[in-house]
Amino acid sequence: METQIKTTKLIATYARVSTSRQEEEKTIQNQIVSLKEYAQKNGYTIVREYADDGWSGDMLARPALDQLRQDAKSKQWESILIYDPDRLARRYSYQALLTDELREAGIDVVFVTTPAPKSGVEKILYGVQGLFAEYERAKIAERFRLGKLRKISEGHILVSVPLYGYSYIPKKDSEHGYYVINEEEARVVKMIFSWVADEKITLRGVVKRLQKMNIKPRKSKRGVWNTSTLCTLLRNEAYIGTARWGSSYAVVPENPIKNEKYKKMKKSSRKIKPKGEWLYVPVPVIVDSALFDRAREQLKENFALCQRNKKNEYLLSGRIDCSCGKRRTGEGAMHGKHLYYRCNDRVLSFPLPHTCKEKGINARIADNLVWKKIAETMSSPELLTKQVERWYSDQRAKVKTAFVDTVVLKGEIEKLKVQVERYNKAYGAGIFTIEQLKGYTLPIREKINQLEIQVASATQKEREQSAGKAPSKIEIEAFAEKTKKVINNLSFSLKREIVLATVEKIVGTRQGLCVSGYIPVTQNVQYKTISRNRRIAKCGEVHAF
Ligand SMILES: [Zn+2]
Repeated sequence: METQIKTTKLIATYARVSTSRQEEEKTIQNQIVSLKEYAQKNGYTIVREYADDGWSGDMLARPALDQLRQDAKSKQWESILIYDPDRLARRYSYQALLTDELREAGIDVVFVTTPAPKSGVEKILYGVQGLFAEYERAKIAERFRLGKLRKISEGHILVSVPLYGYSYIPKKDSEHGYYVINEEEARVVKMIFSWVADEKITLRGVVKRLQKMNIKPRKSKRGVWNTSTLCTLLRNEAYIGTARWGSSYAVVPENPIKNEKYKKMKKSSRKIKPKGEWLYVPVPVIVDSALFDRAREQLKENFALCQRNKKNEYLLSGRIDCSCGKRRTGEGAMHGKHLYYRCNDRVLSFPLPHTCKEKGINARIADNLVWKKIAETMSSPELLTKQVERWYSDQRAKVKTAFVDTVVLKGEIEKLKVQVERYNKAYGAGIFTIEQLKGYTLPIREKINQLEIQVASATQKEREQSAGKAPSKIEIEAFAEKTKKVINNLSFSLKREIVLATVEKIVGTRQGLCVSGYIPVTQNVQYKTISRNRRIAKCGEVHAF
């Protein structure tokens, strides 16, 4: 037999910093340097480096960490080196979950600052330490919060970035930090208030004026004001002498705008606290309270007017998009004849020039066309049958691809089982110990498990899809008949309800409208229609398509 040659250990490294604490924590580079030093000292060879730069340790879903966990299963390296358990996760429970998972996969988890537990007792001790560290952190955070509250109630200002209109004089020795009026900005604030309160100018009007006067907000990528900033500014009671503190707190968003797989921060939204919990700090007055109140009244009036304007009946609003991908919204003079669905690009870029060159679509014409198409499809057995057929052939194609997948998966499982069998035989022949056998077969068994779950869920889906039977001819005819009776004499609000229920998306240009959605015959039948209509603009239909 050959003598065993000691080879160097193949390891991977993991580093993480969260953006908000770059200064306090070691930066990613520092972490990587100390990991490399440690590896060199111990004779390890780094084969892969993982880093999550700017990710909170409060959650597990981090791109590099996910990759690491994936790779751990395929044993690309034997050991993972991390600066300290905190880098892996902030919470002890997460740390324990990850280290257990990795160790079960046969990966050694090594921390530069904390030696790995050698025995059960040490593991418990380590766990207790972890929990204490977590408790300490919570306690420090709480003490910090209470300290802040006390300071605020004593009249300290705690922000370093002052509100527009003020400058911040930082804390010096025993004297606390405070706001002073920034004359130049204060002049702008007063101007904005009086434009709205006395000249009754809309927020968009204010944005335009500020741009014309070349007055820029303090921080802005586009270098122009936006209406929501102005709205917040006009409602901020700091300008009449009382700055609010702690009126909102960070929360996990309930309806996130984007549904990304990875998020750098959990609590990216804010919630307003009950008014009783707000704290106030006196600051120098910029606007007198009469002007402030007048501006507030005017804002309310603008809002009501805007709501009235929105009352124009737009059948397709919320469902119609532009070819550039942005939504189109209904717009037009109050009670006017000329209502259009315009691309939001103009609003989003305001007051800078817009980039989308698509024209507005005449709302009345588009509404009629789409409504006619929906009504026609829903009340014609022939058209319905066509849509049903097209949809079901699409569905069948989908089921087929799913079917191929399960065949491949099953083959994979068989191969893995053969592998396990081979190891078992080798063990039977005394080639290696039971521990070694476990080490070899455990990851394979895990993989088999995973694949079996995948097969089960694919089979389930297959069954669900083929179980949905297409509506029968009789059902289609009954549906069409029922629709035909009522469809032509509906009020706007009923039509609107049907549009919301059946239309998923309309992509519109002046050349045509492409409508897609679902019609509820027996189950939802997907449909797609394309209307290409070119009309010669009649008088008064300048932007008709
Ligand atoms: Zn557009």
